[in-house]
Amino acid sequence: MTLTPELDPFKLAKALSGKHLIGGKLVPAGCGEVFEVDNPATGEIIGTAAFGTKEDVDIAVISAKAAQKDWAKQSARARGKLVAECGRVLSAHVEELGRLVALETGKALRTESRVEAGVLADMFTFFGGLGSELKGETIPFNPDMLTVTVREPVGVVGCIIPWNVPLLLMAMKAAAALVAGNSVVVKSAEEAPLTVLRVAEIMNTVLPPGLFNMLSGFGPECGAPLVEHPDVKKVTFTGSVETGRIVYKAAAEKLIPVTLELGGKSPMIVCADADMDQAVAGALAGMRFTRQGQSCTASSRLFVHESIHDEFVAKVKAKVDAMVMGDPLDEKTDIGTIVSDGQLERVRSYIKIGEETKGATKHVCSALPTDPKLAKGRFVQPVIFTGMKNSDRLCQEEIFGPVCAVIKWSDYEDVLAQANDSEYGLAASIWTRDFKLAMDATKRLEAGFVQVNQNLVVQPGLSYGGVKTSGIGKEASLESMLEHFTHKKTIIFNMK
Ligand code: ADP
Repeated sequence: MTLTPELDPFKLAKALSGKHLIGGKLVPAGCGEVFEVDNPATGEIIGTAAFGTKEDVDIAVISAKAAQKDWAKQSARARGKLVAECGRVLSAHVEELGRLVALETGKALRTESRVEAGVLADMFTFFGGLGSELKGETIPFNPDMLTVTVREPVGVVGCIIPWNVPLLLMAMKAAAALVAGNSVVVKSAEEAPLTVLRVAEIMNTVLPPGLFNMLSGFGPECGAPLVEHPDVKKVTFTGSVETGRIVYKAAAEKLIPVTLELGGKSPMIVCADADMDQAVAGALAGMRFTRQGQSCTASSRLFVHESIHDEFVAKVKAKVDAMVMGDPLDEKTDIGTIVSDGQLERVRSYIKIGEETKGATKHVCSALPTDPKLAKGRFVQPVIFTGMKNSDRLCQEEIFGPVCAVIKWSDYEDVLAQANDSEYGLAASIWTRDFKLAMDATKRLEAGFVQVNQNLVVQPGLSYGGVKTSGIGKEASLESMLEHFTHKKTIIFNMK
């Protein structure tokens, strides 16, 4: 069966309303309840999502456990081929998925949502090609014994995802888990349940039923029972540090492995000799202004050398000023909206903290949309605070919004120490023409993803994940699939 792309996201949101995908079928929640999903650009209700509870988790895990048995018996290459086929089919739905994710998250279609839908398909294609890489080793243990290791799947994997890049984050977990021979139960974020449900529906036209299940619901009612379920043998979670700790503790009770991708407060260090235009473009990309700063890797601590500070800040501000804030579905829009009321309140509270910070100057960028249809939208003008100190709250706490703190620096050793003075360690970048200095910084910056003269986002094939409270484990690469979604079994043949 093939699904025809539905390019009207409002129609699609209604059609997907009130459902989980369990055992290959769209089904309502066992309790019969739903919760509303709104359009962050207008506040209008666009649909509903099934209110998942333990009852649904139990059914999904039973279904996933049954499907995993046959899946694990297939050759790794055959599994990879099917996952790659998911990538091919999903690539025909990029426009549809991009529009729906723009509608439910408020991320602009042209600058963010369509791009994310493309990476989703790419991630499945990438992992689909890795089936035959699930290799073990031969070990020269004893000349009379053949000693080998083989990679075996862990079983049912629980994937818990956030709302900011739901497609990409779900893909890098699920594609790796599936190719490695596992089955998957995903718990979507309450703010963005519909597009990932559509992805599940599309994938179920390719995969055997039960292998890939999608539940919607809230953390305590649906996420927690998934982590706690005795037949869930691995959990991969992306979200806040606070919830990550809860998930880690619950996994510890069961003694199962976890991968945690948590927050960040990533430093971007701009040196005096940096290519100014390249670094300005990098600050825009790194701060994710087009995603309203809603990114765990956002370069939200911008360290600029004192000799170029004023010019640099003026150029960044001018570029952000030129960005169009508006309806996420409009092709002219660069910047969309904040996802939820809770997040909006959080961002506003941090802007207030910035305003009250001694020595800080607030620079408000871009312009709010004037279209009366968007009057109830959760639009926030991006804010740059200069005159910040690394010890200020705005530089230590993750905001997850369009708020950038600029810190002036003069001494290299001091700026490195400040960049590392953070509980987080997800990403970092340095901008300079001095390659010896850049090499030194890459060795000393405490982060899992360090870049020189660029601020790329997650790429298929590159291990992604943080150190310190930014998380445990890596995702998006071959190594991550091997390390996090398989067990290594040692087998010894006595040949005497
Ligand atoms: P954010 O603040 O970005 O929404 P959260 O960490 O609260 O981040 O949420 C990330 C994901 O974790 C969401 O899918 C959410 O429903 C889920 N979640 C929240 N609480 C729990 C919990 N106690 N157990 C499992 N999952 C949870």
